[in-house]
Amino acid sequence: MDRALMDAVAQSHFIMGPQVKELEARLAEYVGAKHCISCANGTDALDIALKIWDIGPGDAVFVPDFTFFSTAEVVALEGATPIFVDVCADSFNIDPDDLERAIAGVREEGSLRPAAVIAVDLFGLPADYARIRAICGKYGLKLLEDGAQGFGGEISGAISGGTNAGRACSFGDISTTSFFPAKPLGCYGDGGAIFTDNDEWASLADSIRVHGKGSMKYDNVRLGLNSRLDTVQAAVLQVKLDAFPEELAKVNRVAALYGKELAGVARTELAPADDLALPQVPEGFLSSWAQYTIRTPRRDELQQFLKDRGIPAMIYYIKPLSAQKAFEGLGRAQCPARQCPVAARLSREVLSLPMHPYMTPEEVRKVCGAIREFFGED
Ligand SMILES: *Cc1c(COP(=O)(O)O)cnc(C)c1O
Repeated sequence: MDRALMDAVAQSHFIMGPQVKELEARLAEYVGAKHCISCANGTDALDIALKIWDIGPGDAVFVPDFTFFSTAEVVALEGATPIFVDVCADSFNIDPDDLERAIAGVREEGSLRPAAVIAVDLFGLPADYARIRAICGKYGLKLLEDGAQGFGGEISGAISGGTNAGRACSFGDISTTSFFPAKPLGCYGDGGAIFTDNDEWASLADSIRVHGKGSMKYDNVRLGLNSRLDTVQAAVLQVKLDAFPEELAKVNRVAALYGKELAGVARTELAPADDLALPQVPEGFLSSWAQYTIRTPRRDELQQFLKDRGIPAMIYYIKPLSAQKAFEGLGRAQCPARQCPVAARLSREVLSLPMHPYMTPEEVRKVCGAIREFFGED
């Protein structure tokens, strides 16, 4: 890493240096997409996708109610209307049944044009793309995969009938990711990328990330952004990508140990008030474990209990997107607020435990011992 960084600095090709192109080629190959276009962050990556599709006022874009703010922020920034869809309690990802209900609602109401779905691979687990893609096909919607937390996740061929098998960031018509330090593939600052098999969209992404350039930077044929990945960050990511397959295996071993150590206190369905549910990975899916997120109605109490023992645990996310002040009143005239009870409940119950590839078994056991003590099992 030291050498990669010092080489990048010594070469002084800080903007769009050779490391950027090299990284893009490697990332495209890893995820199995024809094109990778890097950019400044995961939020811009989503925004660029919407700009490519010319999504704007009058368009409805369906987003999960339980995700990071960016997923819906970009929709509103482009003047389109985010329609919040409930999620599944076991996967934390968009609920295909509620997606169909939301689409039907918008079609019936008639003032917005259903344009796209943004599915998020929350906490590292790919969304249910076999079903989501079928729904998008049925209603003629574009599918944008927000893989900011999903890089490294996989869906195997057997479960998806082959058509959606593969790696995260290849499941959308356009897919995006983030290299924010805390994401599965993080750099030493901000970074992001866009993936697609479509040649025209790839060249539009390349134009939009540099002020809508035409033949060159000072020939501007459309409005764009200043959204490039720094050469230094590309150099960092090349080194991180070398280590990534091993880290993915390691983080899955940490998750398996959490599962084993907590099995005694966990329930799959939360019935009594003091229950604990562990994150579920459906058969045929692989998670890259951006977070290891448990659920309990005694969440706040447990967080404090862990904190008192020197164990940090975080809440992602404290409220559903539809409850964020920034979206107040947005599009309500056309689209009355939808109820997303699962997202609301998750925001009261989720707690993300310490999680990274280099956690030792002793560290995992310490966290689990404290949790078992909290639930009175030790
Ligand atoms: C982090 C994140 C983003 C935004 O990525 P940035 O690089 O921080 O802009 C978008 N969507 C989701 C689901 C995220 O977790």
